Amino acid sequence: MSRIRALVLSGLGACLLLAGCGDGGPRDDAPHGPAAGCNVLLVSIDTLRPDRLSVYGHARSTSPHVDALAAEGVRFTRAFANAPCTAPSHMSLMTGLYPEAHGVKQWRKGANLRLSEDVPTLASSLAAAGYAAEAYTGGGNIRPELGFDKGFDVYETQLTEVDPIFDHAVEAIGRLAQGTRPFLVFVHTFAVHDPYMPPEDDLALFADPDYAGRIAHTDADLGVDAADRWKDRSHAFWERVDEHDPADVQHLKDLYDACIHHVDRRVGDLLDALARAGVADDTLVVFTADHGEEFLEHGGFKHNTAYEELLHVPLVMRFPSRMVGVPRGVVRDDVVRLVDVLPTLLEILGLPEPDETNGRSLLPMLRGRTMAPVFVFSQWMRGRYHTLRIEDQKLIQRWAGSDGSRLVEELYDLSTDPTEQRNLIDERPDLAEKLRARIGVLRGQAHELNERFATGVEVVLDDATRGQLEALGYLEH
Ligand SMILES: [Zn+2]
Repeated sequence: MSRIRALVLSGLGACLLLAGCGDGGPRDDAPHGPAAGCNVLLVSIDTLRPDRLSVYGHARSTSPHVDALAAEGVRFTRAFANAPCTAPSHMSLMTGLYPEAHGVKQWRKGANLRLSEDVPTLASSLAAAGYAAEAYTGGGNIRPELGFDKGFDVYETQLTEVDPIFDHAVEAIGRLAQGTRPFLVFVHTFAVHDPYMPPEDDLALFADPDYAGRIAHTDADLGVDAADRWKDRSHAFWERVDEHDPADVQHLKDLYDACIHHVDRRVGDLLDALARAGVADDTLVVFTADHGEEFLEHGGFKHNTAYEELLHVPLVMRFPSRMVGVPRGVVRDDVVRLVDVLPTLLEILGLPEPDETNGRSLLPMLRGRTMAPVFVFSQWMRGRYHTLRIEDQKLIQRWAGSDGSRLVEELYDLSTDPTEQRNLIDERPDLAEKLRARIGVLRGQAHELNERFATGVEVVLDDATRGQLEALGYLEH
């Protein structure tokens, strides 16, 4: 049964949306978006690089459920994060703003700034229109203290526990589908974040049974406990890795693939929950990630750089059946960014866009129209990375040295060097200067925008929170 017809929507307040507040039919001031009143399921898999998903060309069938989702929706082959790390990237996804504009950084010891109350988020925009909004997350760098809970009625943080996140989200979908309001459910997990610890059934699909190296993937074999700090578990995991042994590097990828297969299965459970509750046709589904992961492409593991393996993310959307004129099973090769997700969703839902956004609605593109090419600007303020990609030219700026005062720059032509191996910074000073100047302008605009918002509230970590974030291994000094 469609719940859309029962809803009376207003972008001005929640009351008009509530059953009983209106007359059950659309009003003149109701939103006129192509999917007004539909539910939203937003799934972000932390640390998921797209090329390990079968739907993005991986030879292994790691992601049958995401593959099926893409077959019914739109898959973007060139989607990029606006930060190569968790907190700023997710906040760009939620606000449509660059990191230096929303100002939310990775947690660190000492003071942290919570998102300014002036900045609307996806959840707060939907809540203002009467949505019920619940989040089931891994916590860590997207803990509520930074402002990620804004607009949500429920905001759970599970950290290392993967399956409860999905179990609770499945329960929430079933419960909210019975309610009188449309819903937003946000699901986030560190399921494919290191240390890679997939269930045995998933690992058996990908691992070499004759692997004889030292890498272990269970707490017991690592000599740690699930309750131990994440940092300790991660350290125990990585100290067994011999990066010079190809068998070890392959085994790491096997473990990562198995983690993806596990989480894909759980994403399938979310989609099943929508179908079971009878709201699959009334729900907009977005599947993405905040950044990717490195496997020695540039000398390291995990995620500590700003190369393409970090910035390239999966992005798949499936639309409610009422959205006519949007073809299904489409693949788009246009460059899109995570800052585009918020304006896109709000336009589709017929809700007002925030006054300030660094993204743009992709709805014309979804309807098959050509949109002007865009650049990709990404930032990691704590690590002091700034990258700008215009067409296939990309400049990476990094401030190195103990006091962060030494600027190191790299310039790549991705059309001839997609894996960023040949630094052209000395060969193309003209191009470097053009990109450098543009980064300066973008940073200035983002900074100015940030100054226009009221200052975010300073968050001082309590001992329990500090312990959890240290456990995550992310807490920066
Ligand atoms: Zn992350």
